Amino acid sequence: MDFAPSAEHEAFRKVVREFAEAEVAPHAEEWDRTHRFPLDTVRAMGEMGLFGLPFPEEYGGMGADLLTLCIAIEELARVDSSIAITLEAAVGLGANPIFRFGTEEQKRAWLPDLTAGKALAAFGLTEPDAGSDAGGTRTRAVLDGDEWVLNGTKAFITNSGTEITSLVTVTARTGPDEISTIVVPAGTPGLVIEPAYRKMGWRASDTHEVRLEDCRVPAANLLGERGKGFRQFLEILDEGRIAIAALAVGLTQGCLDECTAYANDRRAFGAPIGSYQGIAFKCADIAVAADAARLLTYRAAWLRDRGERATREAAEAKLFASEAAVTAAREATQVFGGYGFVDETPVSRFYRDAKVLEIGEGTSEIQRIVIARTLGLPV
Ligand SMILES: Cc1cc2nc3c(=O)[nH]c(=O)nc-3n(C[C@H](O)[C@H](O)[C@H](O)COP(=O)(O)OP(=O)(O)OC[C@H]3O[C@@H](n4cnc5c(N)ncnc54)[C@H](O)[C@@H]3O)c2cc1C
Repeated sequence: MDFAPSAEHEAFRKVVREFAEAEVAPHAEEWDRTHRFPLDTVRAMGEMGLFGLPFPEEYGGMGADLLTLCIAIEELARVDSSIAITLEAAVGLGANPIFRFGTEEQKRAWLPDLTAGKALAAFGLTEPDAGSDAGGTRTRAVLDGDEWVLNGTKAFITNSGTEITSLVTVTARTGPDEISTIVVPAGTPGLVIEPAYRKMGWRASDTHEVRLEDCRVPAANLLGERGKGFRQFLEILDEGRIAIAALAVGLTQGCLDECTAYANDRRAFGAPIGSYQGIAFKCADIAVAADAARLLTYRAAWLRDRGERATREAAEAKLFASEAAVTAAREATQVFGGYGFVDETPVSRFYRDAKVLEIGEGTSEIQRIVIARTLGLPV
C-alpha cells in the first residue's frame, strides 16, 4: 500500500504554497469583504497551469494526477477557500465533463482555453426544486431540427457569471425517463445569468442562478450519449467529492496553523494560552482531524489515479473532511477568543467558509446514504 505523495508532489506543493502565501493570503480578507472575484489571480493561476492539472498535454493540460490537483486545492484552501473552490469547480465540474464525455471535436473546441485558465466552465446540475434529488431535474431540452431548445432554471451554479465564463454544461430532461447533458456556450440568447447570490462564505467565488429561456444550442452540443446524463454526473461527482475533501483538508490545516501560532503568542494569566490544556488540546485535536482527513482524501485520489471508481472512498473522504473542517473552524475561532469573531482574523472567515463544505457536491446526509448503500442497506 502506497498512497503517499512523491517527491514531485511535495515539490509542487511548495510552489503552490508560496504562490498562495504571496499572492492570495494578503488579499483574501479584502476579496471576501468586497465579494470580489479576483480575475487577475485566476489568470496567474492559469499561467501556472493549475486549471489544466489533470488533463493531457494535447488539450493544453499538465498531465498530472488527481492527487496533484488535490494538493493544489488544499494549499489554496489553507489561506482562502473562495479561490480554492474557483479552481475546484472550474476543473472538476467545468472542464472534466467535457474531457470525460466530449467528442474529439468538442474537446479541441473547448478544452484548450479552459486548461489555460483563459476561460472558465460551469456545471448546472442543481435546480430550485432538485438538489440532493438531482434525478428530479425539471429543465427540458427538446430537439427542434438540428437544435436543442432548453427551458428551466439551475440554482447555485459556481463560475457561471465571470467575465471569462465560456460555457455552462447543464443536465436536462430529453425524454420522460431520460436525462442528458448539454453544453450551453456563454452569450447564447436565452441563457440568463441572475445577479450573484449573497453568501455566508465563499464570498469571492462566483455563484449565480441560471435561467434557460427558449435557449437554442446546436444538436452537436450534446455531451456524451443521449440519456446518460444521470450516470455522467454521478461519475463527475466521485472526483468532485475528493476535490472538495481536499479543500476541507486545506481549511483544517489553515485553522491549525493559525491557532497554533496564536496559542504560542497570546498571553493570559501570565503565560501563553497554549500552555493551558484547554487550548493546547484543541490544537492537538485539529492536528489529528487534518491528518485523518488528509489520509482519507489521498487514499480516494490514489484509487482514482489507479483507475478505480472509489465511490465509497470519495464519499467517506468528503463526509469526514467537511465535518472535521467545520469543527476545526469552530474550535480555532474559540482559540482566538474575541479576535476570532472579527473579520480581520482569518479563522473568522474560515468559520463562515467551512459550512458549505457539508452541503455542496452532496450534503453530509447524501454522503451517508451513499456509504450506507455500499454496506448493503436499503436506505
Ligand atoms: C455556494 C454553493 C455553490 C454550489 N455550486 C454548485 C454548482 O456549481 N453546480 C451545481 O449543480 N450545484 C451547486 N451547488 C448546489 C449544491 O450541490 C446543493 O445545494 C446541494 O446538493 C443540496 O441541494 P439543495 O440545496 O437543493 O438541498 P436539498 O436537497 O433540498 O436538501 C435539504 C436538506 O435535506 C436533506 N435531505 C435531502 N434528501 C434527503 C434524504 N433522502 N435523506 C436525508 N436527508 C435528505 C439534505 O441533506 C439537506 O440537509 C452549490 C451550492 C452552494 C451553496
